[in-house]
Amino acid sequence: MPSPLGHALGGITVGLLALGHRPRRAAPLIAPIVLACMVAAAAPDIDFLWNRHSMETHSVGASLLAGATAWAATRQWRWAVAVTVAWATHPLLDWLGSDDGPPLGVVALWPWSHEYYFGHLYVFDSIGRNMRDPNFWPSNLRAVVKELVLLGPGVASLLWWHTRPPRQTDR
Ligand SMILES: [Zn+2]
Repeated sequence: MPSPLGHALGGITVGLLALGHRPRRAAPLIAPIVLACMVAAAAPDIDFLWNRHSMETHSVGASLLAGATAWAATRQWRWAVAVTVAWATHPLLDWLGSDDGPPLGVVALWPWSHEYYFGHLYVFDSIGRNMRDPNFWPSNLRAVVKELVLLGPGVASLLWWHTRPPRQTDR
């Protein structure tokens, strides 16, 4: 599973896409919908607090609940869809990544199924949590660099698009 940074980049990507077509925003990264998507994409790992990682919060059901909450708070479908998709990027990235041990993957289809799904694609490295492991810093650093290489260009392109200088036709 990716680091919180990798998950945040996934959410930021969705948030920047949800910002719409108005070009030349001053600070797209702090637009409320982008911040909300970033938080939604990282939020599923809150389940570490009650030792049920990769279960209910890592599912389509939880994504829909998050989207419904966003809709209730804003009454805007754009927000509901963006938060749903942003939350869903978390189980997707975990599914694409590596896992420390069984059961591998995420309970992606909760509440309809309690089965674990795992892509076996190892696109992202697993993040170590044992700071006493001598490999803790090198392996986590490698994992974070890989996330930046894979997810950074998408975010950078969208940031460029939202802040690009106006063309004649934009005026
Ligand atoms: Zn997770």
